[in-house]
Formats: sequence, structure tokens, C-alpha cells
Amino acid sequence: MKQKKTLLLGAHMSISGGFEKAIQRGESIGCTAIQIFTKSNRQWHAQKITNEQALLFKQTMTSSTIKIVIAHATYLINLGSPQKSVAEKSVLALVQELARCDQLDIPYLVLHPGSHLESGESICIKQIIENIDSALEQAQSNTMLLLETMAGQGTSVCYRFEDIATIINSSKNPTKIGVCFDTCHVFAAGYDFRDPETYKAMWLQFDAIVGYEKLKVIHLNDSKKDLGMHVDRHENIGKGKIGLNAFRLIINDKNLASVPKILETPKTTLEDDRNNISIIEKLVDN
Ligand SMILES: [Zn+2]
Ligand SMILES: [Zn+2]
Repeated sequence: MKQKKTLLLGAHMSISGGFEKAIQRGESIGCTAIQIFTKSNRQWHAQKITNEQALLFKQTMTSSTIKIVIAHATYLINLGSPQKSVAEKSVLALVQELARCDQLDIPYLVLHPGSHLESGESICIKQIIENIDSALEQAQSNTMLLLETMAGQGTSVCYRFEDIATIINSSKNPTKIGVCFDTCHVFAAGYDFRDPETYKAMWLQFDAIVGYEKLKVIHLNDSKKDLGMHVDRHENIGKGKIGLNAFRLIINDKNLASVPKILETPKTTLEDDRNNISIIEKLVDN
């Protein structure tokens, strides 16, 4: 049997018009996994999810090709902000988002860990640990929080595997925290994985520092900018500086077979996602 059949592959989908619409959009272009925002990603405010909305979403998913839905937290959240009011607001927003995921039976919520805004990385990481613990305790959600590997653009932290590991290992709730590995970000952060040797070395490093068992989602994005530039600009698969070979290695890697893979590539219409999905599917060895 072709491995393609068991791939958990898809893209970020809009919830415009209803949560169930994201499932339908994903299904219409052949996704088996999708990612959504459970609220506007540029606003703090969130409208409550009614029981009817949650039920419709779950029913639509059950009768679709979508095997897993992942949520991405709003970009406004900065648990490491040196501004107390922003940090407090961020904790509250994260508690809300964890509760929303719980309501929709979404197992994973992807979070950009934070930015220090010139206050220094180590203070920022310490504050992120405290605030994650606070949010997880308040939310009591079944949803696991996934720290996304970052590009290190601006003052964002967690562009080193070590920082991700520090947060998980210092948390009071390490079993509630996992990792989302973003190919564009990791590459921009300076980790090369474009040929079999560098690929193997990079994953050995990831496994030694973070551990494969913590890896729950992969964001598949090519990069407009070069290795180690710390610039976060996603590109269509095979059109950027990472190139097709790295994606071929990822999609055929048995260690990553069960990890859902989500595209966040440039898009104007759903056709753009469909094109990137078919590029990835063609890389699967038969
Ligand atoms: Zn990402
Ligand atoms: Zn990005």
C-alpha cells in the first residue's frame, strides 16, 4: 500500500463562516489534517463557542477525511513580555484558548513562546515558564500546549532546541507541553537539513536535546531567506532556500510518519494549498 494513504497532511484553514467550514475547506483539497485559529488571530476578544457550534464541528469532522485538527494560538500572546499588562493579558488569553480547544476536542494548541523586547532572553524564558504553568493550571484542559520552534526574528526566543527543552524541563507540567517543529523557522535559525548528512545530524541533535516523543506537529514551509538569517518568510514548497530534497527526507522519514504535517505556505486561494500538497505527495517514495 502506498504510504500516501496514511499521511497526516494538510494546511492551515480559515474558520470564516463557522468552525465546520474549515473541515469542509480542508476536505475539498484532499487534506487529512488541518490547522485553525479558534478565534481571530489579530484580536484579543473571542466570541464564546456555543455547544451547538462545537457539536456541529465535531460531527462534520467525524464524517470527513480529516483525521486531526490542530489549533494555533493568536499571535498577540507574548508570555515573555516585559510589560506586565501584556504578559497578564497573554496568560488570560492562553487560558481561554486552551478552554476553546477543549470544547472542540482539539488535542494540540501551537504557541509562539514569546519575545523579550530587549529585556534579555533568559529573563524572558523564565517568565514564559512561570506563565505557561499558570495558564495550564488555570485551564485544566485536555489540550497539550505545543511550543513552536522559532526563527529568532526580532527578539523572539526558542530558536535554539535548548531553549525549548529548558521550558519543558523546568515546567511543573512537562507532560502537558510538546513541540511544533517549523521547517522554515528551524532553517532560518541556522539548522541545516538539506542533504542526508545534515538531516540526520539535525534530528540526532533534536532527539538528544528535546526528544522525538515531544514532537507532535510539523509545519512544512520552505524559506524565502537563507540559512541562519533569522528571517521568518515562508515560501512555497520547493521554491525557497530549503528545497525539495529536505521535504523528501521529511515525508519519507519513518520516525516522523505519525506526526501531522501542516502547510503554512503563501496562499491567495485554496488552490495554492492544493498545489503545495500535491508537490509534497509526489515526494513520497512508493
Ligand atoms: Zn509555523
Ligand atoms: Zn513563520
